[in-house]
Amino acid sequence: VDGEKDSDPMHIVHVTAEMAPIAKVGGLGDVVTGLARACLSRGHKVDIMLPLYECIQKQQINELALLTTYNSYHDGNWVPTNAYTGLVSGIPVIFIEPSNQFFKGQHVYGGSYNELEAYLFFSRACLEWMQVTGTQPDIIHIHEWQTSGLPLLYWDMYHHLSLQTFIRIIMLTSGIAETANSADNPQHGTLWGVHSDENLIPETCQEQLSKCGLDGSIYATVEKAVDDRTIGHNPERLCLLKGGIVYSNAVVTVSPTYLQETLCSGWLTGTLIRNRDKYFGILNGIDTTMWNPATDVFLPAKFSAQITEGKEICKLFVQRGLGLVSEDISASRITRRVPLVVCITRLVAQKGLHLITHAIKHVEELGGQLVVLGKASDGRVEREFEALADVHSQGSSIRILLMYSEELSHMLYAAADMVLVPSIYEPCGLAQMIGMRYGAVPIVRKTGGLADTVFDMDDQSHAEMANGFVFEGIDEGSLNWALDRAFSHYREKPNEWNDIVRKIMEIDNSWNNTAGKYIDVYSSIRVRSD
Ligand code: ADP
Repeated sequence: VDGEKDSDPMHIVHVTAEMAPIAKVGGLGDVVTGLARACLSRGHKVDIMLPLYECIQKQQINELALLTTYNSYHDGNWVPTNAYTGLVSGIPVIFIEPSNQFFKGQHVYGGSYNELEAYLFFSRACLEWMQVTGTQPDIIHIHEWQTSGLPLLYWDMYHHLSLQTFIRIIMLTSGIAETANSADNPQHGTLWGVHSDENLIPETCQEQLSKCGLDGSIYATVEKAVDDRTIGHNPERLCLLKGGIVYSNAVVTVSPTYLQETLCSGWLTGTLIRNRDKYFGILNGIDTTMWNPATDVFLPAKFSAQITEGKEICKLFVQRGLGLVSEDISASRITRRVPLVVCITRLVAQKGLHLITHAIKHVEELGGQLVVLGKASDGRVEREFEALADVHSQGSSIRILLMYSEELSHMLYAAADMVLVPSIYEPCGLAQMIGMRYGAVPIVRKTGGLADTVFDMDDQSHAEMANGFVFEGIDEGSLNWALDRAFSHYREKPNEWNDIVRKIMEIDNSWNNTAGKYIDVYSSIRVRSD
């Protein structure tokens, strides 16, 4: 049901590398879809521009149709490019398909093309498409380093060409800490905008920018787009994210606490402090159309805060399906008081891998059950978790599922009594919010958006907001303390536990609640054409 409409509708175009559910790797995909849907239902005109990745399943796109064929620039050539329209879960999308190798492969990322060049191409191809078709949005909303070249291209070229001067650009990023990580970050190369293939000869910032037709010498300064960490090295290299921050009209990160953290430490801190006046922290929401236990098609039984019985069926279904409850006791009510914890995450250092492996051990010691649903991008991590999965595969309390599965994630959130998010840093975090909507009590480390959304049950200063269990340290003892308290609440105070489950299901972490803050920022930078 549509809510109230905003009085002054805008045309907002998102330019993004991900969109849920068709091209989703992490939270970025969810954010784009959820924010776009919320703005549409508030009466704005919204389009999403996305590469037509070869891996996208075309049957998930409705009304896919070729719109235009045009040329866009790459490295001295004009590349014939197709633009298609389509609808993805009701949201209008424009798909960009170059006729070269870009965006080919079985996954969204990690194809055998140079990702920096591909996304610089995509950024320019989106502006080129707007020019070719005379599309003049009020706001272009770019996301993360992949599309951070767009404001440079806009202000450098398209603003002077036929695109009108009233377009304004907003950038959303949660990738600041990732870029601040040192060389052990597997994504390090990519985030520098360099393909991670070590055999490539490092290019200078200027050379990299010139691929999309910019005069790199203008931007290859420390105030603009050179990576601080490469200053004084040969070559100095590009940091697209920095360029995006400097050249966007507004920069948003995904929670107030994370905003403060990024202003205090990290190597982009200087850039962010210089741009403090246009830097905002807005919590992400969750897409409550996609994440709704009362209508979720993936669940064996539906439920809501008012009628919670279905949740027990989901739990039994998952326990049986994974062999966590042996047949002979599955009908017994006793199994219902075995707390089931889930942890659904990319298996990368940021997510607190040592705490996840420790939780596996500790939950077993406590007589609970834990299901990890995770995908590793690093071979060493994958092997470590595969070994753990093997050890536990025949047991009755732990399952480690090393895959990406949207369907399973829905079932696990619905089945869970608790959702564990032990991140080392977490710009916003969606798992704790989705978990709450499905009645899973969050156990989180106090960082970034987790600190803004989860308040400890034993902290009297937040009694009315209490909705989970929070720990601060990154050591195993801190995690034990939170798990121990959660388990004793669950076992010793079942009535209070049921109350808390109902309470967290009713917390409004939806985009409806938070999209208004984006509209405010859009309005504050918008230039009226009339
Ligand atoms: P990030 O963007 O850092 O990955 P977020 O918490 O913001 O973290 O978003 C993660 C999203 O991806 C959530 O919707 C979560 O349910 C989903 N997710 C993560 N790993 C998996 C997986 N292995 N299978 C299915 N969904 C996953």
